[in-house]
Amino acid sequence: MSERVARLPTAESGSFDWLIVGAGFAGSVLAERIASQRGEKVLVIDRREHIAGNAYDHLDAAGVLIHRYGPHIFHTNSEQIFAYLSNFTAWRFYEHRVLAQVRSPRTGEDMLVPMPINLDTVNRLYGLSLTEDEVEGWMASRAERVETVRTSEDVVVGKVGRELYELFFRGYTRKQWALDPSELDRSVTARVPTRTNRDDRYFTDCFQFMPRDGYTAMFRKILAHPNVTVRTGMDFREARKRFSFRRLIWTGPVDEYFGFRFGKLPYRSLTFRHETLDREWALPTGTVNHPAESTPFTRVSEYKWMTGQQHPKTSVTYEFPSAEGDPYYPIPRPENAALYKRYEALADAERDTWFVGRLATYRYYNMDQVVGQALATFERIQKAVPQEAANDDAARVKRAGA
Ligand code: FAD
Ligand code: UDP
Repeated sequence: MSERVARLPTAESGSFDWLIVGAGFAGSVLAERIASQRGEKVLVIDRREHIAGNAYDHLDAAGVLIHRYGPHIFHTNSEQIFAYLSNFTAWRFYEHRVLAQVRSPRTGEDMLVPMPINLDTVNRLYGLSLTEDEVEGWMASRAERVETVRTSEDVVVGKVGRELYELFFRGYTRKQWALDPSELDRSVTARVPTRTNRDDRYFTDCFQFMPRDGYTAMFRKILAHPNVTVRTGMDFREARKRFSFRRLIWTGPVDEYFGFRFGKLPYRSLTFRHETLDREWALPTGTVNHPAESTPFTRVSEYKWMTGQQHPKTSVTYEFPSAEGDPYYPIPRPENAALYKRYEALADAERDTWFVGRLATYRYYNMDQVVGQALATFERIQKAVPQEAANDDAARVKRAGA
């Protein structure tokens, strides 16, 4: 895959209208918009050796297409976002399904049951044959009364009660975040609904597709505009020394940009264990979740379900949560939101600089939300930055940066 990236235009030094830090969704979409709609010269850098940010995929040693940073499944309700990305990829219809491995409260045996919790989950776990109407009453009778739904615990116990909460959510969440669900914002477990019907899809969005040739191939097309230069394996500190630019788009961690001056914003990381197996299939579905706290990983995913690739071997990834490592997840809780607000105030005051993406705006965003945020930022740029001025070469100065 690195040879594919190497064919992108590169530069050692020079002068650009825009420097974009980060070649993930936020940076790449803005590079494309600015280059194609404003005709300005853009340099995109990334300190990793590749484009596509956390969505990066590549062929592993066995030739199986895998996602280096864990399974990425595209889903959106926005026709605008889907239409925009469709300029750069064909799609493969894919609806993600997840099973959770849990111990049956009835038999004590390990079972694989649908997650999100639905009618079949309850019937199989408890050996029941409830209907949709009946399971609603069953859940209501177990649900705890929660005055105000504030935390990630409240969300689940208020819907299905403590037993299912402990079975499916408590252990998983404590592993993933190193926090009890009672210490996390409700928005975290609210990502996973509870259903009384038999729908076993993980997402219910209108558009659920994978880029047909993979994410990296899609990013290569997004970044293919002649006004865009891409330089991977380069940090912002180095880029500032080598290149001059008039405006900056920052998609890295916002606290890093400001030299951690108010302290570090907490992020949660993961270690990925990628394995190739000498058989055609490994799992009964795209992802199996392991909520038990005694299992050190949270989930295992098999890419061929998502990519549709046919191959005699198969590759899977285990996700082990960790405190150390790349910042993957902003941690949604009130004190972190308060700290982010202080950085946000600095970001808002920073001249000719835009902060976009999951790390730069400290938001637990999915890919489509980041694309939406980047497209909205481009509209703000269109209003705030007159094109004539942007094209005035004399105004191009070397910036001080962070
Ligand atoms: P990133 O993709 O993180 O890109 C930022 C880039 O900036 C990085 O490549 C980084 O190297 C670079 N950078 C940072 N600082 C510097 C610097 N100082 N100098 C140079 N470069 C720098 N979303 C979904 O919609 N569906 C999913 O199934 C899904 N699964 C996920 C699974 C996991 C394990 C994770 C962690 C995330 C998942 N996401 C998923 C979320 C998705 O990854 C993000 O929404 C999206 O990638 C964010 O794009 P971004 O451009 O904001 O950030
Ligand atoms: N979650 C859980 N058990 C599960 C799946 C999810 O407790 O089987 C909780 C957990 O806190 C997780 C959050 O719900 O971090 C969001 O899950 P999602 O699958 O959306 O996480 P992501 O794909 O973003 O890692």
